[in-house]
Amino acid sequence: MAAAAPSIEKAVRGVTSAPVLDFLKRPKNLLIGGKWVPAKSGKTFETINPANEEVLALVAEGDKADVDEAVKVARKAYEEGKWPNIGPHQRARYLFKIAELIEAHADELAILETLNNGMAISLARGMVAGAAEVFRYYAGWTTKIYGETNPSDPSMFNYTLREPVGVCGQIIPWNGPIAMFAWKIAPALACGNVSILKPAEQTPLTALRLGELVLEAGVPDGVVNIITGFGETAGAAIASHPDIDKVAFTGSTEVGKLILQASAGNLKRVSLELGGKSPNVIFADADLESAVSTSMFGFCMLSGQVCCAGTRVFVQQDFQDTFVDALTRYTSKFKASDPLDPKTTVGPLVSREQFERVKSYLELGKKEGATPVLGGEVTSGKGYFVDPAIFTGVKNNMRIAQEEIFGPVAAIIPFKDENDAVLQGNDTTYGLAAAVWTKDVSRAHKVARALKAGTVWVNCYNNIDPISPFGGYKQSGIGRELGKYAIDLYTQIKSVYVKL
Ligand code: ADP
Repeated sequence: MAAAAPSIEKAVRGVTSAPVLDFLKRPKNLLIGGKWVPAKSGKTFETINPANEEVLALVAEGDKADVDEAVKVARKAYEEGKWPNIGPHQRARYLFKIAELIEAHADELAILETLNNGMAISLARGMVAGAAEVFRYYAGWTTKIYGETNPSDPSMFNYTLREPVGVCGQIIPWNGPIAMFAWKIAPALACGNVSILKPAEQTPLTALRLGELVLEAGVPDGVVNIITGFGETAGAAIASHPDIDKVAFTGSTEVGKLILQASAGNLKRVSLELGGKSPNVIFADADLESAVSTSMFGFCMLSGQVCCAGTRVFVQQDFQDTFVDALTRYTSKFKASDPLDPKTTVGPLVSREQFERVKSYLELGKKEGATPVLGGEVTSGKGYFVDPAIFTGVKNNMRIAQEEIFGPVAAIIPFKDENDAVLQGNDTTYGLAAAVWTKDVSRAHKVARALKAGTVWVNCYNNIDPISPFGGYKQSGIGRELGKYAIDLYTQIKSVYVKL
């Protein structure tokens, strides 16, 4: 049965931006070989606005047949050299052009991101600006990807070439769709690869708009392909496809493990950026005001739906009352509210599923004996709004301290001294990020070294710059994105021996 056309006006809640409304009215098809085509099955799925649960658009539901087609087209583009064989200066121009187009359409992209994901519009604007920066950063890399000449025997000349990996499958999550598009596509293209990207089923819209901008930038047909659809079908088809050379994934640890297994068939190169339960360690000598406001941002940014969210807040025993009192008072000012309002910091959660999940963890926290000193109750109504919650009386072995909630929920856990903070902080299966707050420089560096995490922030939180690697220790992932490290992910090295 064909689904009824959605009522865009109802879903957009007063948004009048003509480019946004025009985009929403256009069909949402798959991008294969430079053309927008419906799914072979003819199926579509609804994508909604989590602030009011109304349908924003019907989106083509790609599956294995569409992935097969996209891989064929991408392979052809790659082997014909449409992208890998154009000069690096020219590739840079395309990436710079994409960055310019993102900036030229910043307003439209930010509104679309907020409508589809529910993130606060101020955050969406920052994400759009960051995505343009990522494209610019990797545009710079195209002309700086060097091989080496090696100190070989005088009768030989040996050198290395850094070559693209080939056809890349890139599967992204719903929590930062525009940012994740940039983190995946920019380095892949910079290194001469072609891509089949699958956005999350919850948030396909901005990837589709970015696909249009990639074509507008003049990137040859077949170099960037976009398949919207579900994880178990389209995503799984990408992960197991015998003619995809590399898979890059950001999402849950659980699905990351499935991707790794599926990739074994043809030994794909795999990079995974997975979950986290990051420790944010506050010593008694921390600057109270900035530790409080930044810790709130650490667990509430994007309503806590961030893999590096600082959701285990370790506070030095003697400082706990002062800190918790100040954090609770400060955080109580931020209720989950209309994400399109520029004053909003905490928007709704992305989906019904996420909403139910967070609600169940709020109940679990109470059952485990922790105390919600802020929030902890969810009122019913339209939209997936959950106010920030702070639990005290948490032990690090409780489930609310060990499992990723992906909501604005902080677990406050006391610690005695440096050693205790590090032991408890590291007592998790994850290792994506961590933070330490202290005025003692030597302690800051010592603790930063001792925490097992891919990123450690000292007296700050959630800072991410394209120049610096991002990725996880332990079950938070494999490989590092951003910085020069993504060049390793998207190239392979060939050693050439020449007999002189
Ligand atoms: P989350 O738990 O944050 O929703 P997921 O790990 O489920 O994240 O999803 C992240 C991305 O992985 C999405 O694009 C989703 O469609 C995709 N995905 C989910 N399951 C699979 C799977 N079995 N194989 C490949 N991709 C999948």
